[in-house]
Amino acid sequence: MPDDRETQLALEKQGVLFTQLNRFYNWGRKSAIWPMAFGLACCAIEMMAAASSRYDIARFGAELFRASPRQADLMIVAGTVTKKMVPQVVRLYNQMPEPRYVISMGACATSGGPFRDGYNVVRGVDLYIPVDVYVPGCPPRPEALLHALITLQQQIDNQAIREVRWYGDREARDFPVPIFGKHGLEVEGIEGTADPVGGIPRMAPYVSPALGGSGERTSNPQVLEGNVPKPLMQAAVEEVFGHGKAE
Ligand code: SF4
Repeated sequence: MPDDRETQLALEKQGVLFTQLNRFYNWGRKSAIWPMAFGLACCAIEMMAAASSRYDIARFGAELFRASPRQADLMIVAGTVTKKMVPQVVRLYNQMPEPRYVISMGACATSGGPFRDGYNVVRGVDLYIPVDVYVPGCPPRPEALLHALITLQQQIDNQAIREVRWYGDREARDFPVPIFGKHGLEVEGIEGTADPVGGIPRMAPYVSPALGGSGERTSNPQVLEGNVPKPLMQAAVEEVFGHGKAE
């Protein structure tokens, strides 16, 4: 059936609810995102503020912060990810059921932030798990986190049941949990010390499909350029300008 929004809106005005399986499925998922209750540093205070009455994350259906990864589908990495902590972060992520999403909140989680050149800080959590939405700032305000949540909801809205990795008989995937070696963190599949103390990481980040990647590690500069979700940008341009080209 063609995806005809105009017809759908016209019918809705007449009181006829008209939908597609994908939209209904995505509407249910995006309206009840359950984040995991954990924070790593100062950004977590802003995350807590987003759940308070002033910012009220409940307006977006995401107020049920869960104490167990088994009951959560969103990991908000809020704060500095140290090398001591990253094995626990990856382990928790692996314990979340599919579909699962990650918001990298703040400069520290995204790139190491002000501690980037420290010996003990991971330079981007996306070197270990795929990130769906990045939030800039040190710290980002609660509104920025709410914007990230809305962006994630838009990403979910654009997914098709036939294409998503968790639907059907595909196996759930575990990401390698880094271990401490003689000279720094070692990661399965990466030769030698993957993230050496005092050196630069010897691995590329994971890039999620919503950001133009395939969910695997990639060092393709065209994919890595910026964090703009390309399918979303295209959709926004079409909506605003009525055609498919960015001016
Ligand atoms: S980005 Fe800034 S506010 Fe957030 S954890 Fe790092 S230092 Fe703290």
